[in-house]
Amino acid sequence: MHYVIIGNGIAGINAAEAIRALDPDGRITLIGDESFPPYSRPMISNVLEGSQPHERLPIRGTAIYSELKITPVLGQRVVRLDVDGNWVELIDGVRVAFDRLLIASGADPRPINADGLDLANIFFMRTQAHVKSQLEALPGAHRALVLGGGLVGFKAAYGLLRRGLSVTMLISSDYPLSLQVDETAGHLILNRLLDHGLDVRVGTSVSAFEGTGRVQAALTDDGQRLACDLVVIGKGVRPAQSFVPRDRIETDMGILVDDHLQTSVDTIYAAGDVAESIDIARGCRWVNAIWPEAAAQGRIAGFNMAGRAVAYPGSLSRNVMRIYDLDVMTLGYANPPADAPLRILRSGGVGKGFYRSLVFRGNLLVGAILINHIEQGGVLRALIENGVPLDIDPAALMASDFNFAKLLAA
Ligand SMILES: Cc1cc2nc3c(=O)[nH]c(=O)nc-3n(C[C@H](O)[C@H](O)[C@H](O)COP(=O)(O)OP(=O)(O)OC[C@H]3O[C@@H](n4cnc5c(N)ncnc54)[C@H](O)[C@@H]3O)c2cc1C
Repeated sequence: MHYVIIGNGIAGINAAEAIRALDPDGRITLIGDESFPPYSRPMISNVLEGSQPHERLPIRGTAIYSELKITPVLGQRVVRLDVDGNWVELIDGVRVAFDRLLIASGADPRPINADGLDLANIFFMRTQAHVKSQLEALPGAHRALVLGGGLVGFKAAYGLLRRGLSVTMLISSDYPLSLQVDETAGHLILNRLLDHGLDVRVGTSVSAFEGTGRVQAALTDDGQRLACDLVVIGKGVRPAQSFVPRDRIETDMGILVDDHLQTSVDTIYAAGDVAESIDIARGCRWVNAIWPEAAAQGRIAGFNMAGRAVAYPGSLSRNVMRIYDLDVMTLGYANPPADAPLRILRSGGVGKGFYRSLVFRGNLLVGAILINHIEQGGVLRALIENGVPLDIDPAALMASDFNFAKLLAA
């Protein structure tokens, strides 16, 4: 049995470890286009801000490959997948045949459409190489522009602020974190950023960059000219599936997988940011591109590939971040469209110092936004994750002192 894994991230390495735990003899080839052993991608922002050294990034040492008898093919990109021939082709033309394939290629930063993108000092924020380049550009840089008001945009902005740059955040939606939180929460966060003197511009995007050799200014589609000498593009990600033949393997936002992480082709599995699996809260397939889900999916895909049937319960979106004095937590289907057949209870808001929005489908809790008083997030998550039917008035969950004991008593 030859197992081939595309992607040397957390999903890929967890799969390799799970396979080896069940199959001591099968061949495992791990292909990754970054030339390093797996590392903590979320922690690259800590390296940018200077709170962690670069050396802390690896999550496995290079010895892992020999210990687990894995053949690493690093610094090589898969450019083609032949489903009928059971092989993948690397960028140098070499073909690697497989019996079972795992696609764990993660996600690519979402590109933007603007002139002048080839100027120096314009970076994405996805890999340790991106952060290394940003750090190399710091001497002489004073004004940074961060595009995107999501998690990655925030982490980049924070890191550059900590490095002493003045930072402008440019957000195309009307408020930050618009994919995760509703308008009330978004404005609470936006006000807090502005109160702290951060330069945040909402509802606008960059149409062009200007400069001689390196970036010196950005032009926005509403006519502003923003001087800058360093730009970070952190406008979300999209599954890295350019080599996947869409006429042979079913895809939507990502590669569609069933509850055993198998794609529409029996011998091919997918896991991590590239996979679109059942979202527990939404009740449909969705890409939840977060570390813990990539880790779990990789491990479960590996077990299934090696012949032990293990079901994946589905993914759940969850984020926690601190923005100045605001603790922000989102869970599940936190920000559904207004016409979704769901019931939403809200309390707090701008001027109150806290906000809570809970989303219900019938008697099930399916989503939550908490700003401050997030201590009960664990209980709420358990209710969503386990699909616990609520036989009590849902309003009980809005009280800031509810807990498991009170729920059980009720
Ligand atoms: C700055 C930042 C902060 C983050 N913070 C958080 C956080 O706080 N919490 C959280 O839960 N998540 C966070 N994430 C998301 C988290 O890092 C991802 O969900 C996780 O890394 C996904 O793991 P993966 O193995 O699916 O993909 P990846 O980590 O992307 O690994 C995939 C690997 O496959 C390689 N690859 C891609 N295409 C090919 C190809 N064609 N051929 C060969 N190799 C290929 C890639 O280069 C990469 O090395 C953050 C991400 C970033 C960028």
